[in-house]
Amino acid sequence: MAKFKFEYVWLDGYTPEPNLRSKTRVMEFSSYKGDVKKLPMWAFDGSSTQQAEGHFSDCLLKPVTTYRDPARINGWLVMCEVLNSDGTPHAANTRCIAENAADYWFGMEQEYTLVLNGRPLGFPDNGYPAPQGMYYCSVGNGNVAGRDIVEEHLDLCLEAGLNLTGVNAEVMLGQWEYQVLSKGSKKAGDDLWMSRYLLFRICEKYGVDVEFAPKPVEGDWNGSGCHANFSNDTMRNKGGKEYFMNIFEAFKKNHKAHIAVYGSGNDMRLTGKHETQHIDSFSYGASDRGASIRIPVTTAKTWKGYLEDRRPASNIDPYLVAHRIVTTIKDME
Ligand code: ADP
Ligand code: MN
Ligand code: MN
Ligand code: MN
Repeated sequence: MAKFKFEYVWLDGYTPEPNLRSKTRVMEFSSYKGDVKKLPMWAFDGSSTQQAEGHFSDCLLKPVTTYRDPARINGWLVMCEVLNSDGTPHAANTRCIAENAADYWFGMEQEYTLVLNGRPLGFPDNGYPAPQGMYYCSVGNGNVAGRDIVEEHLDLCLEAGLNLTGVNAEVMLGQWEYQVLSKGSKKAGDDLWMSRYLLFRICEKYGVDVEFAPKPVEGDWNGSGCHANFSNDTMRNKGGKEYFMNIFEAFKKNHKAHIAVYGSGNDMRLTGKHETQHIDSFSYGASDRGASIRIPVTTAKTWKGYLEDRRPASNIDPYLVAHRIVTTIKDME
């Protein structure tokens, strides 16, 4: 028998966006290969996470998926749903709301800012660095800040089994992006939340904070988004201009319902500047980075493939975003 460390990870009850919480459970197995069914439910004090009242505070953790935890000996990360003490889904359990649309793929472009002492990493203590221009996909001291963290995060995510497809330095100094491609709407949420968990944990070691606010620095500095690239079986394999036009119509009609789950403070970011469409307008366009929805060049040529919804902010709850996209398309079909 060997002792394994299982990090049970869940989302708390804070609004408008939940935070990640976790605690370790040590269990003995002769061997463990990631089967979530072998893991028991667990409990936590919901009164400390805004998920229950003090006098009746137990909430339950239901393991739903596992990832390797490469930074720990015999370590596993366990994504959990939160249930009330009677076993019903907790009101803040957004994973449970999302139906599992297995043929939907999501490529989430997670942007974020590394922060030291309240300032983006690389910014001087007073004032500002040189204006934007030289930072995006840059190399060289002064042009990027925090690459060690980014590299370590990429390696850990890949070893954990998360399908990161790339990383890049972003338009603002100290701002970065990684992309995660997931198949299935619930998995899209699980994967993005767990990749964020690993980012937070690595940053603890460096004494650096992670900022997911959509507009961390006011003024002529890019905000942080989480572009949601999506496709379903029909888009990828059957396609057709008409099907895509119907999607644009449906997205236009539901613009407000989408914006409602596309992150708090997103109005600070979707201003119509800095490669965004204004939050009150909906538009789509081939290769148009100023549109709400960009049609990638290959999709526009063949009317087969995926679309990029550029509206979601960096602080989204991906369960809600995936669910909204799936719902709009399914209602249209
Ligand atoms: P850009 O920065 O040009 O907007 P990225 O390369 O950062 O684009 O992100 C594009 C994302 O789209 C990647 O995560 C990629 O995996 C994802 N993607 C590619 N094909 C599909 C598809 N068929 N369905 C959903 N996502 C896809
Ligand atoms: Mn990108
Ligand atoms: Mn980007
Ligand atoms: Mn993009």
